[in-house]
Order: sequence, then C-alpha cells, then structure tokens
Amino acid sequence: MITDHQTGSALENIEEKILTARETLEQAHAKSMDRIIAVKIDGVARDLFAEVPEGAQVEPIYLDSDEGLEILRHSTSHVMALAVKELFPGVKVTIGPAIEDGFYYDFDYERPLKEDDLPAIEDKMQEIIKANLPFERKEMSSEEAVRYFGKQGEDYKVELIRDLGEQRVSLYTQGSFTDLCRGPHIPSTGKIRAFHLTKTAGAYWRGDENRPMLSRIYGVAFADRKTLKAHLQRLEEAKKRNHARLGPQLGLFSTHEEIGAGMIVWHPKGMMLRYLLEDFEIKEHLRRGYELVKGPEILKTDLWKKSGHFENYRENMYFTMIDEQSYGIKPMNCLSHMLIYGSRIRSYRDLPKRYFELGTVHRHERSGVLQGLLRVREFTQDDAHILCAPEQLNEEIKGVLDFVHDIMDVFRFDYELEISTRPEKSIGCDEDWEMATKALMEAMDERKLAYEVNEGDGAFYGPKIDVKLNDALGRKWQCATIQCDFTLPERFDLTYVGKDGQKHRPAMIHRVILGAIERFIGILIEHYAGAFPVWLAPVQAIILTVTDRNLPFAERLLDSLRNSGVRVKADFRNEKLGLKVREAQMEKIPYMLIVGDRESEKEGMTPRLRSGENLPFMTAGDFTGRISEDVKQRR
Ligand SMILES: [Zn+2]
Ligand SMILES: [Zn+2]
Repeated sequence: MITDHQTGSALENIEEKILTARETLEQAHAKSMDRIIAVKIDGVARDLFAEVPEGAQVEPIYLDSDEGLEILRHSTSHVMALAVKELFPGVKVTIGPAIEDGFYYDFDYERPLKEDDLPAIEDKMQEIIKANLPFERKEMSSEEAVRYFGKQGEDYKVELIRDLGEQRVSLYTQGSFTDLCRGPHIPSTGKIRAFHLTKTAGAYWRGDENRPMLSRIYGVAFADRKTLKAHLQRLEEAKKRNHARLGPQLGLFSTHEEIGAGMIVWHPKGMMLRYLLEDFEIKEHLRRGYELVKGPEILKTDLWKKSGHFENYRENMYFTMIDEQSYGIKPMNCLSHMLIYGSRIRSYRDLPKRYFELGTVHRHERSGVLQGLLRVREFTQDDAHILCAPEQLNEEIKGVLDFVHDIMDVFRFDYELEISTRPEKSIGCDEDWEMATKALMEAMDERKLAYEVNEGDGAFYGPKIDVKLNDALGRKWQCATIQCDFTLPERFDLTYVGKDGQKHRPAMIHRVILGAIERFIGILIEHYAGAFPVWLAPVQAIILTVTDRNLPFAERLLDSLRNSGVRVKADFRNEKLGLKVREAQMEKIPYMLIVGDRESEKEGMTPRLRSGENLPFMTAGDFTGRISEDVKQRR
C-alpha cells in the first residue's frame, strides 16, 4: 500500500523528471498496486517501469486479467530459461512463448531434457523467484545484439535477430540471463506465485523437420495457488479420462501399426456403441424429414475437378488409377448427393430435399497431427445436404440449429456458436457470399443465439457456423457445422421449376451434427469417463452368480433378459463374488445383477449400480422395465 505521505513525497519532483508507469499509477492512487504487473500506455502493453510520454493514457494490467496472465506466463518461461541455463551449462535457448494456461521454452542441449529433469528445474526456479530479481530492459542495435548473442554461442538468437530485420531490438535481463524479447514482463520474478512444469516433448526448431530437434518444456502458471491446484486436478482428471487409454482398456477400439496410422479398428463393444449412436441419429434424421442416401467411396477425378475439390482440396485427398482412369477417394460426401438431386426434374413443391448419409471419408492428415480418435485419416460423418429454394434457406438453417440444440441436450453438452466468413482461397461471387453469410447470421439472431465472428475462416465454398461444445471438464470441442454453399448447385447445374414455370437455382447447406463419429466417440469417452449412460452402454447389465448352485436360474435369467432386448452378459465363473464385482466395475457396466440362493429361489435379482449403491430385490420384468425407462429418458 502507498501511504499519502509516500505519494506526497513522490509528487514533489514530478516537474523535473519523466514519470514511469508505476509512478504515474501511484500518483493516481491506482487500486491494488501490488496486483498490477504491467500497463497499457495509449493502448500498448508495456512494462511497469516504462516511461510515460507527456499526456499519454496509462491503464493498469492486473495479474489475474487475461493480458496479465499472458505476461505472467511468458515471464515464467524466462525464469525457466534462466534455471535451465544455470543447471545445464552449454544449453542454447530459442523461444519461450505464453500458451493457453501456461508457457513453454525450447532448448538445444547435448541430450534431450526429460521429465526427470523437471523437479530440479522447478527447485531452481523457486530460488530465482525467491530472489525477486528484476526484469531489466535495454535496447541495442541489431548488429550489437547479434555480436552479443554470437559471442555466447546463442546461434538461434542470432538467427531470430537477423530474421526480424529490425534496426533495434530489446533485451530483458534477470540475474545472469539476458534474452531477446519484445516484452512486456512482470517487474520482478517474485510476482510469480503459482507455476508447475508439466511435461517435456521434442520439437523441431521452427517446426521444420530438417532443422535440429529441440527439447520443449511445458509449464502452467496462474495468479494464485488455488487456481493452479484446481487446474492441475483437472489435468489429472483429463489424464484419467484419456480416450486413447480408456478406449482400448474398455475393449472399444484399437489402432495398429501394421494397418496404418490414423485408422481405427472397432472391437465388439466399440462397434455396439457406434451402432447405438448411428441408430439414434438415423431415427432423429428421419423424424425431421431427412432421407437416407449413400454414394460410393471413390469417384472419378474429373468429377472432383468439376466440383472444385481437385483445385482446392487436392493435397488432403488420396487418388488411385482404375482402368487407366484416375479416381479420387472421397474426402467429403457432397458429390453423390448432387447427382441424386440432379437425376430428375425437381419442382418447388419437392423442396426442401434433405439427404442424409453416414458417409465414410478419407483425408490425408500429416502423421504428426494424428491423435487417438480425435484426428484420424478415415472417419464417418453424419453428413447431410439440404437443397432448398433461396427463400427457404432461413427456415432450414433454423431447423438445423434446433436439431443441434436437441442433440446436444441429449448428451447434456452446452455449446457456443461461431460464424466464419470468406477466406482468401475461395470460390464463388461476392453477392453469394454476402447473402449466405447474412442467412446464417439472421437465423442465429432469430433464435436469439449469441455467436462470435471469425473473419476469413470459412470453407472455400461458403461461410459456416461452427458449434463448439463444452465437456464435463469444461474443455471445448468443435463438432457440428452448418455451411452454406451457392457454388456446388451451380457447378452441377442443379435447378428446380418454380411457381412461375421457370428454372431456378436451389440454395444448399452442408451440415453435420456430431461431426466425425470417431471423434465424437472420443469426446464421449472422456466426457463420461468411460461410464456411458444406460442407453449408450455397450453392455447394460452383467449377471454375477454367487455359487454354481445358482447356475440354472442365472442361465434362464440371461436368456429372458436377452430376449427382452437388454444388452446383458454373464460372469458364471467359480470365483469370489468380490472379484467379479470389481471386474464388472472396471468395465463400467451400469448394472450388476447378483444371483445367489435367495434370488434363485425367489426367481429375481438384486441389482447393484456401478456407483456401489444396491437396489432392492426385483424380478426380471421389473428390471427390464427399469432399463426401458433409462433408455427412454436417455440416461
Ligand atoms: Zn520475454
Ligand atoms: Zn458436403
């Protein structure tokens, strides 16, 4: 806290000297000075000790604001670099930006830096924080800076300065470490209160596989320990829920080096889950007036040229030759749907046409970005194309928005909307783009939905609405998209006969609700931590016998439940009940049906929930009724 007396004494010499940002704020009695870590001078983020030109506007940046946290995180990366330099002589530094929740720094050392190195680095960082070293800024000419870093063998810094091509650069020093940096920074290392180094990874210098492989150390940093702790708990929970680990463990899917990267093999339980989702989706589409269609996996390359995909999407496609004719494996499902529409004369009375396909597509993704079920090379989309009269477009978009809402509600996901506008690489005329963008925005406005605008982020053929859902851990996932397209109907010369007896061009929407089924299942596994609700659980119940005496009744019960459509399995092994219960719990089966002497005699069961809660004794009929109710309520 600044006392009046102190402020008063600072005021005495304002006349003579230029004030720093900190002094200006102190003079203005800014609130919570100790939480201010930087400032904006005329809107530009600067250090607290930056000089304030006369008449400039100074605004504080608080530690726990978004901007404050970014500065804190980036500054923590400098502290980590100092620690690493002290611990590993000869290490070369590269860059250390702030990222979501934290920061990283890439180092070049004689051996890769590993997780085992992290505790020592953290300890060293704590010492540096305790010493409360100031971040000191100085400027010098680029030539001078090249000499300065060159002398220390910091080749990466030299390369960065040369590439910057600036006359002058700024450097920041804490203790024995000086880094090339634009800043701003926290005033001193003591402002760092809560950080943790999370992991190491290999990363090529500038992401270029022909350049040296560096050691990247990731960390997280927050304004206080409580927030850090909550974040680390969330990370731990996310690790436990990781679908790439849980999926194979629960017998849902696997991947195989001998099959190829980014290709998923579905095991019985995973395939059941997939079937349940797809069946649910087909019914929901039929209810909303969609028609089921299906096109082939490979189509002549000439058709991809006609659609514009060859020109705009070729690098993500696979091609093959058949009878000296080039074919492209479909990366999207649109083309067959266009040919279905174009196969006969359409009247305005037939519109809208809503074609739905669970369409399997192949896209080439770089091997480095492939990730579990989330990023794969073969996947199935719940894809539909809606062809309608331009004046029906608004109603159709609203229909899709409502559809998205209903489906997200089933999974208890809340979501956010974003609209993406025309990108640089795109086809179609300005008027069409404008009309389509307006149609999307108006539909969201009329549904009173809030949305963000991503300028220039649309598909090459039209603007789109992206839906980002929030999972149980508060993470965001992009799933549904609604894209307008005035181009394909034109390229395929699709028409309908209007009321006036003339031919008109229909408008078109491409849309997915879940997106890629693979990816959506990956998200569901993590959202539910593998404990699927009864309506989606591949196995809904397991019958556990207490002794072999109970076998005759248990077998009859198994048949009877199966006949009633319950997805049930049996564990009739001559093992301890406790062990069988534990194993069923590991499998996350919603109901365990324990059959002992009492149950055999009274011809019923005592269900136990996966939470450990026991239900009262009930008959097979009672239980089937309970399951049907769960399925009906989608719980
Ligand atoms: Zn910096
Ligand atoms: Zn499409």
